[in-house]
Amino acid sequence: MSQRHSKVEGKKLTSFPVGGLTIEKLWKLFSKGEASILEVNLNYLEKANQLNDTLNAFITIFPEEEIRKQVKTAEEMYRRGEATPLTGVPISVKDNINVKGFPTTCASKILENYISPYDATVVKKLREAGAVIIGKTNLDEFAMGSSTENSAFGPAKNPFDLSRVPGGSSGGSAVSVAADISVASLGSDTGGSIRLPAAFCGVYGLKPTYGLVSRYGLVAFASSLDQIGPIAKTPRDLSLLLDVISGFDPMDSTSWKGELKTWEIKPSDLGSMRIAFLRDIDDGLDEDVKKAYQSFLSYLEREGAELVESEISSLKYSIPVYYLIACSEASSNLARYDGVRYGRREMAEDYRSMVALTRGRGFGNEVKRRIMLGTFALSAGYFEEYYLKAQKIRTLIKEELKLIFKVADVLLIPTSPTTAFKLGEKINDPLKMYLSDIFTTFVNLAGVPALSFPVGLDSNGLPIGLQLIGPHFSEGKLLSLAQTITSFVGNKKGV
Ligand code: GLN
Repeated sequence: MSQRHSKVEGKKLTSFPVGGLTIEKLWKLFSKGEASILEVNLNYLEKANQLNDTLNAFITIFPEEEIRKQVKTAEEMYRRGEATPLTGVPISVKDNINVKGFPTTCASKILENYISPYDATVVKKLREAGAVIIGKTNLDEFAMGSSTENSAFGPAKNPFDLSRVPGGSSGGSAVSVAADISVASLGSDTGGSIRLPAAFCGVYGLKPTYGLVSRYGLVAFASSLDQIGPIAKTPRDLSLLLDVISGFDPMDSTSWKGELKTWEIKPSDLGSMRIAFLRDIDDGLDEDVKKAYQSFLSYLEREGAELVESEISSLKYSIPVYYLIACSEASSNLARYDGVRYGRREMAEDYRSMVALTRGRGFGNEVKRRIMLGTFALSAGYFEEYYLKAQKIRTLIKEELKLIFKVADVLLIPTSPTTAFKLGEKINDPLKMYLSDIFTTFVNLAGVPALSFPVGLDSNGLPIGLQLIGPHFSEGKLLSLAQTITSFVGNKKGV
């Protein structure tokens, strides 16, 4: 858990499309006895340890002894005929999700020495499926950020160009998948944190419908927006993971009680698809991203899809609305780090000074900025003017999206207005950083699912991501559509 910086600036580690093993491939290999679960996991572990100095994808890599223990369980499941597609597969988990007996730092100094006393529900489910959890991935402190530069343990690096950010806040998870030091990963998405890093690192990321995946054991940032989801190399792998982690959980009061579906992938007939797109989103959009978006829309049209021109007039408010709501909820959620109940404690003469010192030293700048902003927005006299107004616009955004889904099956837009930017480029200008989230935050405000997929590379060789957004619980459709269009993606090396 030390600060790690890359020594290999500007070097490229990964080429497009992202290679390596998938859950699907490993399932076949393990089932036929053509690969050893132990060997595969020890290889991944070795590679993770070797590359972490350069990539800083992991905050904690689990010791070999722990991996061997989990491998044994997986082997027994195969022996007893109880194996699932995830059995024996090396998976990484974002370090804001509790894995019992190991640190959950949230990339914060305030939780540096905190050891998880229990497994998050998603981790419990991964274990039941026989997955091997190999470590905890780097993130922006408490998942607040878009570049992973807000980590107290140093930024993660983009494997396509080590001088660039991997996106955030689940940057470590996306890097671990893109650089093939884990087969797949779990991230969390409050305003784009699964999709943005997936786009910047050329992999697939899914933010599920709010309530579909239990948040129990996920450290809360903004509870009405947070959602755990998978990052993987193929849509099929996303669906295999979603299958395992989704479902009702009595430990999460916002968990969806509906009937559990299998997120099975069926070939989508593009000819019967109505795909909404936004015409007026040119502002601040990179030329290469715009080209990729347009050429992808033309491809869909050629394949027979009906393109539906749409507009979200409230989109321009989504950044201030998101940051007001997210910061307000964060200011309340993070009140629990008082030096008494969790993690770090700075000793002082009295209670107040102890709390002030602990929080002052334990939190980084971005976290402090958000706590202050949120506390201000919730305070008497300002509540109606800011928080309440933001909630009203949130409803408006939901309504506008509903209208789109009346006339279209899905909405297709870029995941981010740019490709991966340089480390340090936006870190001192929070507003510039927040604008990276222009196409992602409204999705969380509406609670709908969205899937980011890679479409090619820009002129600098950096991945471009687009995202499919659908109505609540349309994950099956998004996954099937993403699978259908991978043929286009697979044949394309640039824009
Ligand atoms: N980038 C957004 C933020 O900083 C989203 C973060 C997230 O989804 N966890 O809040």
